[in-house]
Amino acid sequence: MREPLEGAAASPPDGGPGGEPGDRGPLGLYLHIPFCEAICNYCNFNRGVLDAGLKRRYLHALHQELECASTADAGVAADSLFFGGGTPSVLDPAEVGALIAQCRSAANLESGAEITLEANPETVSPERLGGYREAGVSRLSLGVQSFRDDELSRLGRLHTAARAVEAFGVARAAGFDDISIDLMMWLPEQTVAHWIESVEMLVGLDPEHVSFYLLELYPNAPLKDEMSRGGWAQAPQDRAADMYHVAVDRLEAAGYQQYEISNAARAGRRSRHNLKYWSDGAWVGFGCGAHSTYAGERWQNVAGVGDYINLVDAGRTPVGNRRTLSGEERLTDSLFLGLRLSDGIDVAGVERRYGLDVWSRWGAELAPFVEAGLLVHEPNRLRLTRAGMLLASEVMQVFV
Ligand code: SF4
Repeated sequence: MREPLEGAAASPPDGGPGGEPGDRGPLGLYLHIPFCEAICNYCNFNRGVLDAGLKRRYLHALHQELECASTADAGVAADSLFFGGGTPSVLDPAEVGALIAQCRSAANLESGAEITLEANPETVSPERLGGYREAGVSRLSLGVQSFRDDELSRLGRLHTAARAVEAFGVARAAGFDDISIDLMMWLPEQTVAHWIESVEMLVGLDPEHVSFYLLELYPNAPLKDEMSRGGWAQAPQDRAADMYHVAVDRLEAAGYQQYEISNAARAGRRSRHNLKYWSDGAWVGFGCGAHSTYAGERWQNVAGVGDYINLVDAGRTPVGNRRTLSGEERLTDSLFLGLRLSDGIDVAGVERRYGLDVWSRWGAELAPFVEAGLLVHEPNRLRLTRAGMLLASEVMQVFV
């Protein structure tokens, strides 16, 4: 489950809290829940195995950290809240409800805010999801990853494809009318035909939003060992590109609009929260390892659950590092992350906010990508083509 900085927004008005160029529109709030029932063999996120006592102490610390939120004092409103992890659906509805209530009182979470909670299919029950709805959760992000049991088993996931389909039905029955499904492609032993099966299953369920990622194998991932032992291989890179194209084509044919490299949605169902990461927005994260970007500063809490709890319990800040962003950093972040959006970068808007001519500064380095068909340069827009999205990191290097 993905953390901020990996990766955009409607167009909030320029200027915002503190008048910083990078703080546009209302804040997003992020709460990190670092517990999972088991650890998947490819996972490089900040998480650990669920322990009831540790969860209690962690939630206590999280409430304490929220209590100290300074954004409320500054009168800044938040229009999104995202429970990420880890597996936030290991929380009871009462625990989720208490955190939402505190975000309303301590961090000015607006009454119409988008409130997303990430859930894994095996944790889902009618009581739990009904409780989340009553607590105010408006959007559910289901970590399905694949609709094939052999692929789920190779990834060490706890659920089956049938359980994922059941979880989706339970979510609909509980009243969720805004559901996102995560899928992963380029899995060990996955063929393009296998991948299409998962995409077709997803289209059949008709969620409002889809996230589709390429599996990234970090250096010491246990999955790497399992792949060598099992003789499992990933398809060649050009097949991975085929998987990406086929997914975008099929989703577009089914009425979804791709709005970011790895995200597509029905009209009006883009993720308000995640858009902030890609469109020069501001957000404040709470919990271990959580990132924040607000009022010209960027900071990150200590990653360890124990360290985080000890610091907060001792009345100290859990922030591990904090720095003021230079104007240059804010500008390059804005361009780098904005390129992830299908609409690309609003060049005129960036030039207004940061006071420079983007093409004069980077045109010579960007022109070869335009000539190669990876980038489109329109009068006031700079955007990646579909082919460019697959090679986005190469284009983005220009701004680093
Ligand atoms: S459920 Fe998500 S966060 Fe937890 S181990 Fe698996 S991939 Fe990682």
